Amino acid sequence: MSKKYIRVLCAGLAAWLGAVALAAAAPGAASAFDREFGADFLDQYWRLHPDDAIAAGYYAPAGTLRVPDAAERQERVQFLETSLARLHRLPAAALDARGATDRLVLENQLRSELWSIRELRSWEWDPSTYDIAPPIGLLLETPYAPLEDRLRAVSARLERAPDYYAAARAAVVHPTREHTLLAIEQNSGALQLLGAGFDQQVAGAALDPAQKSLLAQRAAAARQAIQGYIDWLRGLDAPPGADAAAGASNWRSFRLGARLYEQKFAFDIASGGSAAALYQRALLEKERLLLRMDVLADELWPKVYPDAARPTDRLEKIGRVIDKLSEQHVAPAELYEDIRRRIPELTRFVQDHDLLTLDLGKPLEVRVTPAYERGVAGAGIDAPGPYNPGATTYFNVDPLDALPPERAESYLREYNRWMMPVFVIHEAIPGHYVQLVHANQSPSRIKSIFPNGAMVEGWAVYGERMMLEAGFGDDTAEQWLIYSKWNLRSVVNTILDYSVHVKGMDEDEALRLLTHEAFQSDEEARDKWRRVTLSSVQLTSYFAGYSAIYDLRERLKASYGPRFSLKRFHERFLSYGSAPVQVIEQMIDKDGL
Ligand code: ZN
Ligand code: ZN
Repeated sequence: MSKKYIRVLCAGLAAWLGAVALAAAAPGAASAFDREFGADFLDQYWRLHPDDAIAAGYYAPAGTLRVPDAAERQERVQFLETSLARLHRLPAAALDARGATDRLVLENQLRSELWSIRELRSWEWDPSTYDIAPPIGLLLETPYAPLEDRLRAVSARLERAPDYYAAARAAVVHPTREHTLLAIEQNSGALQLLGAGFDQQVAGAALDPAQKSLLAQRAAAARQAIQGYIDWLRGLDAPPGADAAAGASNWRSFRLGARLYEQKFAFDIASGGSAAALYQRALLEKERLLLRMDVLADELWPKVYPDAARPTDRLEKIGRVIDKLSEQHVAPAELYEDIRRRIPELTRFVQDHDLLTLDLGKPLEVRVTPAYERGVAGAGIDAPGPYNPGATTYFNVDPLDALPPERAESYLREYNRWMMPVFVIHEAIPGHYVQLVHANQSPSRIKSIFPNGAMVEGWAVYGERMMLEAGFGDDTAEQWLIYSKWNLRSVVNTILDYSVHVKGMDEDEALRLLTHEAFQSDEEARDKWRRVTLSSVQLTSYFAGYSAIYDLRERLKASYGPRFSLKRFHERFLSYGSAPVQVIEQMIDKDGL
């Protein structure tokens, strides 16, 4: 039901990078598409997806908790089918570029939701689908209205919690063990959210006594329902009287399998190509990168290890050079300043090299991550939701003081002298932040609410290479080697995801691939393994988008010859908003550069 974002390197970004100035839609320019699929349509959509609405900053249905039973799914199916029929009656030829791309993006979204209910059916095998906490957490911590109004919405939601969890237990028929354990963990977090801190917040609110006691009763009943769900899930994990081995055979595999994987890939990536072809391409790309890294490591060896013999194994040699270079990093206390000073530095580089117009308007604000948004150590863009376009975009930097020294050290080694600028390029300039600013200039509700993840991530990954090609980092072997390690991660994400979900790769093989062939730490590799058991296709979006954008650029370069302008290509590419690369390509072929 609700979208779930596992916090990754690009923290928080997944959701609303496409956020745009909705209010700024040009007056009088409403197209046929906007009239049919404008505010009224979206209001209907949000009423059927109230959890997603809250995450998007649209609070009209905030007090609605939908009970996830068969009737609820049927209602969504009906809405999706009706909407698709309306969409198909809209003549595509009459639409302008934005309307036409919006239409394609919305059709893909509606078809994808239908497929998800009918074919993917994660509602019956992923128990972590069911968790009332995330929207309640957002309502409690987002001051969009007085606390009392927000608590009334929470109270209305809690009233239905017992029915909600009863429906969840009826829906889950053949779960995976991995999602069951995740559901136990997440719902234990829900109990905490509704614990003592919640009671205090209620006690301090200006609600009348009757409302307060009603809310307290509902919270108590909700806690009981959550605990009941957790106990039931625990029972699935260790069925009474069954030994562990017998229980294990009842789990559904977390692996998606070829058929569902290709279908999900077609909806989520929307590249027009197959997952199998992208996997083959990633294998070639990995070898190409390792060949390059081999040459760079040879070049650097005498410099970083003047007295040591060079290993004959190329992976060992590359790994040891990376290891040595990683020693050059800032102290924990300098991390924030290190990131902050890079924003103007990168801005100047982009302008001096005429890569892109950077009319950034309100500058990006670098800040220490507020306590309630901190997760695992990390940093990244925190963009406002599509219904909150005036809000500031932040570059959050998690402080490292809460980490044990060896974890902080490993983080800083990863974000060493050459890696950190690549990371800031990815997140900010000319990566995610710049893409967001450009998307804002062609206001599109649909593309901001349903951004294409491969385009968004692909642009950021493309930006890294483009900057290095333009001479950022002075073209040194050190810069290219560390960049290549970073780029290899995107490539290997694709290989890993496909290998695990389609080809049955096991944990040992996966860890070996990540640590031995992609130079990742044991900890990073174990986190990645967990992520690949809980998600599918998302890990391929970085390389899918990057390779498609790179190919498009090279093709246009060849066909335009001396008339090709890199800057014009970038601005043209970004002007259509967060649409699939394939859709943007069609528009560029039609409109020209
Ligand atoms: Zn990213
Ligand atoms: Zn160190």
